[in-house]
Amino acid sequence: MPVDLTTTFPRRFVPVGVDMDDWAQIEPLFRRLLDGTPDSPAALERWLEDISELKAALGEERTRRYVAMTCQTDDPAREQAYLDFVEHIIPRLKPMAHALDETYLRSPDRRRLPARYALFDRLVANRVVLFRPENIPLETEEAKLKQQYQKVTGAMTVQFRGMEHTLQQMAPYLEETDRATRQEAWELVVRRRLVDRDRLEGLFEQLLALRARIAQNAGCADYREFAFRELERFDYTPNDCLRFHEAVETAVVPLVRSLQASRKADLRLATLRPWDLDVDTKGRPPLRPFRTAVELVGGVEEIFRRVDPDLGQQFRFMRDHDLLDLESRKGKAPGGYQSTMHERRVPFIFMNAVGVDGDLRTLLHEGGHAFHMLAARHDPLIDYRETPMEFSEVASMAMELLAVPHLGVFYPDPNDVRRAQREALERVVLLFPWVAMIDAFQHWLYTHQGHSREERRAAWGRTFARFAPDVDFGGYEDALDALWHRQLHLFIVPFYYIEYGIAEMGALQIWRRSRVDHAAAVRQYRAALALGGTRPLPELFAAAGAEFDFTARTMGSLMRAVEEALAAIRG
Ligand SMILES: [Zn+2]
Repeated sequence: MPVDLTTTFPRRFVPVGVDMDDWAQIEPLFRRLLDGTPDSPAALERWLEDISELKAALGEERTRRYVAMTCQTDDPAREQAYLDFVEHIIPRLKPMAHALDETYLRSPDRRRLPARYALFDRLVANRVVLFRPENIPLETEEAKLKQQYQKVTGAMTVQFRGMEHTLQQMAPYLEETDRATRQEAWELVVRRRLVDRDRLEGLFEQLLALRARIAQNAGCADYREFAFRELERFDYTPNDCLRFHEAVETAVVPLVRSLQASRKADLRLATLRPWDLDVDTKGRPPLRPFRTAVELVGGVEEIFRRVDPDLGQQFRFMRDHDLLDLESRKGKAPGGYQSTMHERRVPFIFMNAVGVDGDLRTLLHEGGHAFHMLAARHDPLIDYRETPMEFSEVASMAMELLAVPHLGVFYPDPNDVRRAQREALERVVLLFPWVAMIDAFQHWLYTHQGHSREERRAAWGRTFARFAPDVDFGGYEDALDALWHRQLHLFIVPFYYIEYGIAEMGALQIWRRSRVDHAAAVRQYRAALALGGTRPLPELFAAAGAEFDFTARTMGSLMRAVEEALAAIRG
């Protein structure tokens, strides 16, 4: 069913002229909500919708300022406008939101709401149970330590070929066909990282200690238990994550080994070193699918249209309504994201396209997020217009895979099509071991309280060896020990990472189905997107035609499908 893009959502509760930057105007709206205790289930529903409306108006203000800042970082006024909102409005919202949650939980009509509120009820109850005023200062302290991590790693640069490079800017040199150049670039980066090794280890130890206190305050046995609840992981347990690690070890690692063996043979090398992993094995220059953003938008719209004509239409709507900023230019923030204009209920896509194959994947990925947002835009509850990460990444990752048969839109040469298709599938396989490694290491970290630095080093070494493909780090053991420092999630968003592995398993199941029955797979994909966050994860997966299962059984069958597809492309 096509999404109605013409619907607008006029305000009912928030007065039109309210300045969303002025706490003196915002606070009375919260007060009105807190004082106006609803006296019937219908009134309670209306009250929840009013809260959603206010949160959406505030959310849109934040997104608008964030977009403006990232599109032009060299304009100090835009940066200040965003920071003002983050520093002066957001901290005041938190206690208000908590008070509203408590008001809701006290309402006798809560139990008489229609069944569709059950999930919402679970979210609110969980938030309130975990809330501890004494954790607020600890969380502020934690935020400062996280900022220090960003500062330390953000300041890392190296001198290469007479120019200062950030570590991100060094990545393209690992694709150079000259092996000595790659090694030099790789060594420079790891040496630079090692300069701050002790500082980062110390920072991490402070974070571990703080997190243990936060968990204890909240009445949890350890930080892992706290994190699972805070991340709203209602549908799977730490044990399920351990099953996922086993599945990667038994079903993915062998395929990675065989991919590495072909790479080694193609490159005619005796051993694969860490600087041999990104270069094209046939010595070809990088793919160049487009030159201008106009070409990129036109081609991706055509791919979406071939996946499903409605999706092509939706992407065109975004283009026509200035909801895309894709081209890299001076003054733009790095990276790419999809963000939501919560009040207008439309998505916005930001990225830095320079004309490489990875840009296509980024736009297809963010496009999947955008379609998800549009599919769920009619729900009156803001909480239900959003979906947990484990499934929202299915929307984006599946779109990358559904596009694989249509990459010829960008590549007139069939050899280039095959190369782009193979790279897309190989990347999926190679993602799993790293996700498992980071996740397994986190399980160890937070269930071995008081461990020493040496014990941590040894635990990382064991975890790496368990999932690592055959890459020879000989002579660079200290670089290997500190390899996890570069994964910011460990420092900034603990435990948040396995979501990508779970979602990729869902995306692969949709892709596998699409190879047999494209129309049915896309129909189910879209039906699942339209559910937004109204269902628990197993039901969202089921609606998309996928099993919510982390075991080696599902993983093994998926890896066989990928292997077959890779063999067909090679042949
Ligand atoms: Zn994503």
